[in-house]
Amino acid sequence: MQLVLATGNKGKLREFKQMCQDKVVPFSELLGELDIIEDGETFAANALIKAHTIYEKLGESYLVIADDSGISLPLLGGAPGIYSARYAGEGVSDKDNLLKLIESVKEKGVKSTPAYYTAAIAIVCKYGAYVVHGWMHGNVIDEARGEKGFGYDPMFIPAGFEKTLGELEDDVKSGISHRGKALALAKPIIGMLKGKSKNE
Ligand code: IMP
Repeated sequence: MQLVLATGNKGKLREFKQMCQDKVVPFSELLGELDIIEDGETFAANALIKAHTIYEKLGESYLVIADDSGISLPLLGGAPGIYSARYAGEGVSDKDNLLKLIESVKEKGVKSTPAYYTAAIAIVCKYGAYVVHGWMHGNVIDEARGEKGFGYDPMFIPAGFEKTLGELEDDVKSGISHRGKALALAKPIIGMLKGKSKNE
């Protein structure tokens, strides 16, 4: 079974490749660009929508891995949450979303407030569908610091650190991240499914 990643997000792809020993191919290399409507109400539902859509196009010899993720601020009632990729509107850049979240924090008159990232990873193949989650807690600040990571990372300080993910090295993030934790749970499932396919 070939492992395919159902994401077009370059930041996510880079992190998956760094964390995964398996050879994973982005779906765009096999199918070109695709617009998938993520209209689920949870991270898990959206991850499953992405994984099922790609799996149905590719067929039985593929195992599809999809990640749906985002950042939530209790101060904003959980926003942007599942709307993290379009917080500043449809078709906007990661930078636009980052600046909009900084504005929202400033409007509340705070310099720092608790926040957490969630990642749901869905795995879909001929043997079934699976979902695992990972979380990373910390605080967001009212400014962007550093150029590393992607998305909201320049304003996010993980619990136990003093620097933002924009300032910390990539390998620090992969050891503590929502995506890293979800992937650690996904790996044994992927291993089990690959073993099943080899034994057929
Ligand atoms: P998705 O591609 O629909 O899952 O959207 C995820 C959005 O959440 C991305 O566009 C980023 O803005 C944000 N996001 C998810 N994970 C991270 C992360 O690890 N760092 C920074 N931003 C993230």
